[in-house]
Amino acid sequence: MFCAHDHCAGCRSLIYNRVSGEYPSGSRTFEFCISYYFLFSTYYLLIPMAKPIIFGDTIEITYNPGKENEFKANKGATIEIFDSEYIILFGPSGCGKSTLLYCMFGVLAPSAGKMYVNGESIYDYTPMQMVMFQRKTMGIMYQSFNLIPSITVLDNVALPLIFAGVPPAERFDRAMELCRRFMIDHVSHKRPSLLSGGQQQRVSVARSLVNDPKILIADEPVGNLDSITAAQVMDTLAEINEKDKKTVILVTHDAKYLPYAHRIVYMSDGKIERVVPNPEKKQILKLAPGSTIVTEIEQIARIYPYDSPKELQVKSVVNYLIEELTFDQITRLQRVTEAIIDGRMDSATYLRTLMADLNEGGLGIPVARASQMTERLMNIIDHARDIFRYRRSRGGEVTQMRSLEFINRIAEFLATQFEFQLTPTQKANFERSIEQRIGGFTKREDFWAQMELPVSERGVGLNKKQAFDVTRLTEKLIAQGIPRVGEAHH
Ligand code: ADP
Ligand code: MG
Repeated sequence: MFCAHDHCAGCRSLIYNRVSGEYPSGSRTFEFCISYYFLFSTYYLLIPMAKPIIFGDTIEITYNPGKENEFKANKGATIEIFDSEYIILFGPSGCGKSTLLYCMFGVLAPSAGKMYVNGESIYDYTPMQMVMFQRKTMGIMYQSFNLIPSITVLDNVALPLIFAGVPPAERFDRAMELCRRFMIDHVSHKRPSLLSGGQQQRVSVARSLVNDPKILIADEPVGNLDSITAAQVMDTLAEINEKDKKTVILVTHDAKYLPYAHRIVYMSDGKIERVVPNPEKKQILKLAPGSTIVTEIEQIARIYPYDSPKELQVKSVVNYLIEELTFDQITRLQRVTEAIIDGRMDSATYLRTLMADLNEGGLGIPVARASQMTERLMNIIDHARDIFRYRRSRGGEVTQMRSLEFINRIAEFLATQFEFQLTPTQKANFERSIEQRIGGFTKREDFWAQMELPVSERGVGLNKKQAFDVTRLTEKLIAQGIPRVGEAHH
């Protein structure tokens, strides 16, 4: 047996040097640990480490092997999850998170590698053992709730108990208790379709817990819920982890849920890129001293969650080279800027926050820079409104005259920002390009090209730098002025 980390895979222990107080690290064999134990116990202490409840050993999963559409969804993932941990499998859509999760659940056999749960290789189970495993050890929640529409909420919750052969009275009691706990007892006699999304997902939480499983796995369980309901379900899962001491393994591609986890498993392209302990949560796992070091990279990773470790390192050093804000400042800036965009803060408070000292919760930005930043932001927000109004006006609510006024105002703003002196023809072409871009008829690249194109070719005839600047600012306005995907129009 061999382990490349600072603990041994064989005896699962850290070596502690009693004399120096250090934890020698580096590769070592199991035999080596044994000899430490017997020969050097005066000097060394072996500190036992927990055994993982789940151990995925070099998991490879290939869909449609040997066929034309063969696809490697997991390319050798090794993962250890410990009892009572809250783990998030995180990464962009398609990176293989669900694949790995369903492999843990016992429904997707690895093409290579082994999946151990409680020390047992689950794909060596007999069919009957597998059924018992899925019933007793695992609870599961899906994005789409997967409730049975034709039976009541209570029966949905109790369903796994029917399969487990639990007598009716006990089924009723256990299911009802969970309904009460998750505040769906008052609707327990209804069909699931009459419940809100949040309530339906709570039914699914209750159902996943009715067999009292050790491990709860959840595949994007709040992906279909609005943000407030989603937060409630996430809080429920956190409670199940903290109070009930269940191991929770959650798949998400949404970075805002990362703070819930003890450890975050970053995945990309079928591989586990890195596993990061969340410094804000007390760790379940006894980590080797020094392994929890929080580097700037983790801070940056929160801002750019899908970047690879190397991209993050590059961002860290580039950030230094251009002597911009620190990542701490960027995080604060994001917070206050969000407040402005949501209309919860006025520009004067924003400016004051930018200038205030770091230890007063401010950003410590000098007055000239802070004023410029505030002005630029307010300009963008003001003119983004015109973009929003313009797009709405095309629906026919406002006259053509009015909608041209919005375009006109945006054009004026852009021209003054960069001090363009435009002839009437240039201005007409400029406005047409803006209208086409904002209307969604042209792409950013088309707009950019039109800025540089000579006036004789219906372009605006700007120079390279002007064209770049004006395209960039126009895109900023569009980004703010067009409601986000999935967001309701007000
Ligand atoms: P994630 O959950 O991270 O979005 P998945 O694990 O669902 O990703 O899928 C990983 C990749 O495997 C995707 O590119 C997906 O298209 C592919 N895939 C998933 N399920 C199947 C399947 N049953 N057959 C073929 N390809 C699949
Ligand atoms: Mg998925």
